[in-house]
Amino acid sequence: MNYHFETLAIRNQSERTQFSEHSSPLYLTSSFVFEDSEEMRASFAEEKERNLYSRFSNPNTTEFVNKIVAMEGAESGYAFATGMSAIFSTFGALLNAGDHIISCRSVFGSTHSLFTKYLPKWNINTNYFNINEIDQIESLIQPNTKILYAESPTNPAIDILDLELLNSIAQKHKLLLIIDNCFATPYLQNPIKFGADIVIHSATKLIDGQGRVLGGVVVGKEELIREIYLFSRNTGPAMSPFNAWVLSKSLETLAVRVEKHCENALKIAEFLENHSKVNYVKYPFLKSHPQYEIAKKQMKLGGNIVAFQINGGIEKGKQFLDNIKLCSLSANLGDTRTIITHPASTTHSKLSNDERLETGISDGLVRISVGLEYVDDIIDDIKQALK
Ligand SMILES: *Cc1c(COP(=O)(O)O)cnc(C)c1O
Repeated sequence: MNYHFETLAIRNQSERTQFSEHSSPLYLTSSFVFEDSEEMRASFAEEKERNLYSRFSNPNTTEFVNKIVAMEGAESGYAFATGMSAIFSTFGALLNAGDHIISCRSVFGSTHSLFTKYLPKWNINTNYFNINEIDQIESLIQPNTKILYAESPTNPAIDILDLELLNSIAQKHKLLLIIDNCFATPYLQNPIKFGADIVIHSATKLIDGQGRVLGGVVVGKEELIREIYLFSRNTGPAMSPFNAWVLSKSLETLAVRVEKHCENALKIAEFLENHSKVNYVKYPFLKSHPQYEIAKKQMKLGGNIVAFQINGGIEKGKQFLDNIKLCSLSANLGDTRTIITHPASTTHSKLSNDERLETGISDGLVRISVGLEYVDDIIDDIKQALK
């Protein structure tokens, strides 16, 4: 099957039932029925591939997972209730007590909590590397290091990590390379092409794209996904069939939506770069981005997240947010609605000042998740709020 991304996103459907439906129906059922005891035995023994129970699989979650597997060029996958349950289950399945992780410092807030608060309960510790110290990763490797973990682009610093370089380090030291590909979506970047073993998405963001449902998905090498599947099948973080149905429909429009998100984001980034009250703008496809060349190498477009710093620090940052009229102040991202946040006073307020600065979050940093409204309307809103 050599179909392109857009075609896979639309035509990769579950089998039709006797009703000849054109669009996949919703299978709200917790379990599935067997013809006889032999079929039931063979199914539980995994001699026969079929649905047993929706914690294990369901036609809607299978359709959703199959699409992401095809889009990412992976071998296999499993869908989760949220992005965080996807991340936690990956660690739960692949790590043993005493193992060690190396991660980029700028990671999603709850991932940071996993690394610093929860995984240490099982004596699993994490060392961070800074974006400008990527050549020092090797010095952090210990005999028990098992995973090299990164986001790219990172949340919220919008740093870009060189996936090819990370892969060469992981290969050399036999580490599993795990990439949280949430900000890029499978449309903009496929880490598996650069050697990643596992790719994780929060489907809550651009994959849903309309701020409706939560979801997560992990795809990658067959033998690793098998472990993650068995762990999840027994611990129960499965995606709901309803959410899978919504998300699978969302994937049908992912390519056109993300194209437009990126077009709007680039225009907004260019507008901000020329504004006198803005110190700096960070957007992967602006030439001024420190890792612009790497972004161009591994991403199709720059994504929908723009970060910028307002002159005057924390008070000016909050004042700017208070003057916004059209855009939303909200914790989500990747919605059709443009969302503006101030990480220092919200998502990353639990970090110390030093930790925040090391993560690239200054007091005046504002993050915009650019939506699909008409771009001039978004720019006008930002313009009047900056005034
Ligand atoms: C939102 C997010 C997550 C967590 O996803 P949920 O669906 O909210 O659990 C993980 N990683 C990144 C980069 C995110 O933006």
